[in-house]
Amino acid sequence: MSKASTLLQNEVGRRVLLLANESIARGVLEAGVRLVACYPGTPSSEIGNTLSQMSPSLENFYFEFSVNEKVALEVAGAAAVSGVRSMMICKGPGLNVAADPLLSLAYVGVRAGMVIVVADDPSMWSSQNENDSRYYALMSNTPMFEPSDPEESKSMLLQAYEISERLQLPVLLRTTTRVNHTRAPVELGPIRDRPDKVEFQKEPFRFVPIPSVARNRHLWLLGQIKVAQEISETTPLNFTVGQGKLGILTSGVSYCYVLESLASMNLNAEVLKLGMTHPVPERMLVEFMRRHRQLVVVEELEPFLETHARRLAQLHSVDVEIQGKEQGYFPRTYEYSPSIVRDGLRRCITGDTATDLQRTERTDTGLSSLPPRPPLLCAGCPHRATYYAIRTATKGKAIYPSDIGCYTLSISPPLETADLLFDMGSSITTACGIAQVTGQDVVATIGDSTFFASGLPGVANAVYNSHPVCIVVLDNRTTAMTGHQPHPGTGLTGMQQKVEPLDIATVCRGLGVKNVRTVRPFASLANLVKEVRELVSWVRNNRAPAVLVSIEPCALIAAAERARAGVRISPYYVDPETCTACKRCLNRLSCPAMYQDPESKKAMIDETMCNLCGVCASVCPQGAIRQKE
Ligand code: SF4
Ligand code: SF4
Repeated sequence: MSKASTLLQNEVGRRVLLLANESIARGVLEAGVRLVACYPGTPSSEIGNTLSQMSPSLENFYFEFSVNEKVALEVAGAAAVSGVRSMMICKGPGLNVAADPLLSLAYVGVRAGMVIVVADDPSMWSSQNENDSRYYALMSNTPMFEPSDPEESKSMLLQAYEISERLQLPVLLRTTTRVNHTRAPVELGPIRDRPDKVEFQKEPFRFVPIPSVARNRHLWLLGQIKVAQEISETTPLNFTVGQGKLGILTSGVSYCYVLESLASMNLNAEVLKLGMTHPVPERMLVEFMRRHRQLVVVEELEPFLETHARRLAQLHSVDVEIQGKEQGYFPRTYEYSPSIVRDGLRRCITGDTATDLQRTERTDTGLSSLPPRPPLLCAGCPHRATYYAIRTATKGKAIYPSDIGCYTLSISPPLETADLLFDMGSSITTACGIAQVTGQDVVATIGDSTFFASGLPGVANAVYNSHPVCIVVLDNRTTAMTGHQPHPGTGLTGMQQKVEPLDIATVCRGLGVKNVRTVRPFASLANLVKEVRELVSWVRNNRAPAVLVSIEPCALIAAAERARAGVRISPYYVDPETCTACKRCLNRLSCPAMYQDPESKKAMIDETMCNLCGVCASVCPQGAIRQKE
């Protein structure tokens, strides 16, 4: 039975081994959530993927992969304002994109429960920064919950809906990578019915925050967060365990590391575990601090709880020594581990404040370290061919703004076609800025999903302001980096329905781009180089933007489809008689399936890794790379 079908079962009391992300997906059913909107982003991806798989089997349920996080929050927010429970899912940096509607939504509030699941990524395993989303709770005045494990992820979600409805506010459920991807037994609860349709009740002087409305709503919001404060003081989600002179304040996955560390160090302490971290339970925390002379704060990323503790200690004249990041006992960067927490606790006790971040970063794997390997595009990735062509056509002299997606890996030699990156959609907009002030050729690259997510305003801006930029859309027919989710160019919805896809070239023409070309990078590498060269030259001469859409499915999808269809392609090999060991293929294309024979120094192809794209055959000047008969 697939995980999605297991999660659909109404078997109350059954214990199932679940990822926290799957547990949250199950929680959607148990909370009776009617609509979920998400933009895929690791480490939250499996929540949306699981719901999408489940959606065709569910009545009165709607799931969508929205084009970006702002859109997702607006879709889900509108559903909650209409009177049904809703959810929005994103990763940490995604909440930046959705910050605009988040702050307004808190002002107008919701009629039915709404939860925003935001997955932060300490250590940036797959993110461009270490956003600490707890500050969004503070800034937007919305309650926040932080589960520590899969079971809590579901139980807190259910409570978050209750509190959201009680306060008429959206509630943030913040997870971190280690929680999202932890698997543990979770007890299934009853599945709640979902309403089919509700009637939207008009209330413009609440839901349209023109200044006179917003001024009142801000006061209302501050009143609600006071009520939330009282909830935080009494909720069983905030509790203490253990006894001892030492007090420890913690939340999220750090709580698990604290318990493990105390046991292994044979140390007694009283631990205050906060499941509701905004608003912090002020009375509870002050009383806790009064019981201890020494308070250690253990939390990943920013000193969020630590700052609250210091503020409250000062405000209430509590005589307690607060130890945490501020004195260097714990690192402010990267994911924690039991050994980092153990080390921090030991140093708090001994007063050793010399934090050695290198030492504390990543330890305790129990494995001998692997040789470092540069991150590379997959063997047979169509982006490699396009980047090879961009670099060849521009002789490596253009500026190459990049974007968020697996193609950012083109930063590595020999492709070296990622010069600047801010956030989703920034390749086009930063290209505009660079082109205006440098006079150099600028070739921006952006993936298909990112193009729909945040690229469109950049295209409109480039057209309207006549920015001389060459935009290459790397259309691999999927959102590859986060696990192959659909987007408006793929023709599949989150409800698993086939629909008419949006054509990127037509969209660009519609936005006013005069020169739009479409290429297949595997059809002819020479032609691809020629197209890029012509486009760059056209942009230079016409002082206007042009777009090249390079379409070829992701190598992983192509391989899976070939396997499903039983299509056999003859493998590629290097003919040792013809190969002159010039290393052009190795040095300029650097496909991971190719290597140098240590004895003959000639190129070789590892057939088990080769994804049969054939690009290396076009790169070899000797014609030494061929397909077997
Ligand atoms: S055909 Fe060549 S470039 Fe393509 S995956 Fe195989 S070895 Fe790599
Ligand atoms: S480019 Fe051709 S000749 Fe040169 S090393 Fe590669 S296979 Fe051999």
